Amino acid sequence: MRDKNLVLLKHLKTLRLPAFLANYPRVATQCSETDCSYEEFLSILAEEEVNQRAERAIYRRIKAARFPLQKTLETFDFAAQPSIKKQQILQLTQCDFIEQNSNVIFLGPPGTGKTHLSIALGHVACIKGYRVYFDTAAGLINSLLEAKKQLLLSKKMKQLLRVDLVICDELGYIPFDRTGTDLLFQLVAARYERGSIIVTTNLPFSEWTRVFHDSATAAAVIDRIIHHSVIIQITGQSYRLAHKAAETTK
Ligand code: ADP
Ligand code: MG
Repeated sequence: MRDKNLVLLKHLKTLRLPAFLANYPRVATQCSETDCSYEEFLSILAEEEVNQRAERAIYRRIKAARFPLQKTLETFDFAAQPSIKKQQILQLTQCDFIEQNSNVIFLGPPGTGKTHLSIALGHVACIKGYRVYFDTAAGLINSLLEAKKQLLLSKKMKQLLRVDLVICDELGYIPFDRTGTDLLFQLVAARYERGSIIVTTNLPFSEWTRVFHDSATAAAVIDRIIHHSVIIQITGQSYRLAHKAAETTK
């Protein structure tokens, strides 16, 4: 009996069925007590395996997305930000925009929840099975510049095209030279109608020339980003400042 168990353990390891391995003694006891059939026994174990794999895949996608912080919609206080329509954000959690390769732009002053909401949407997308990649505009430009320097630009672009959703945070905070912003334009152009982008920015479109150096490039970027997009314009006060003020008046 012991030998048979060892053989079974070895096979389950070889077949990479960790949930079978971990659960079969417990499920076997349960099944012998409840008199369940062989099929039911197998079915319970198979379900545990499938569930565990799905959970691991979600974990892997969240890790690969490289979110800088853990932010979810559950912790977002919609009452504190009346310029954001909760229903519209909930609609975005359906991820239809990813299916349609369209974009989301969060536009508004600092501290109003743009990064929070973009991470929260990215998180939901990971759970739903989409591949997500989060970076700041500065981070994206730097990694594209680095790839170009190492003659690996097309590999890097391909990598960024394989992802279902790219989140480009804080566009417009840090100025970049022409080479950098042209690479960002290339990325936007390559993903146009092929993959989604979420952009967060404090700059109204009229000021994107400052980022992309000339009005023709800025117009070309804006055109591609907003053609299929949901634009969420946030107005109002910084959440951080509002909370600080509330704390100091307590
Ligand atoms: P932005 O990207 O617009 O500058 P953030 O999303 O980084 O702003 O928000 C700043 C901080 O305030 C973060 O810690 C974020 O979680 C929090 N925050 C902003 N708005 C809200 C909100 N409505 N409810 C809960 N937390 C919020
Ligand atoms: Mg931000």
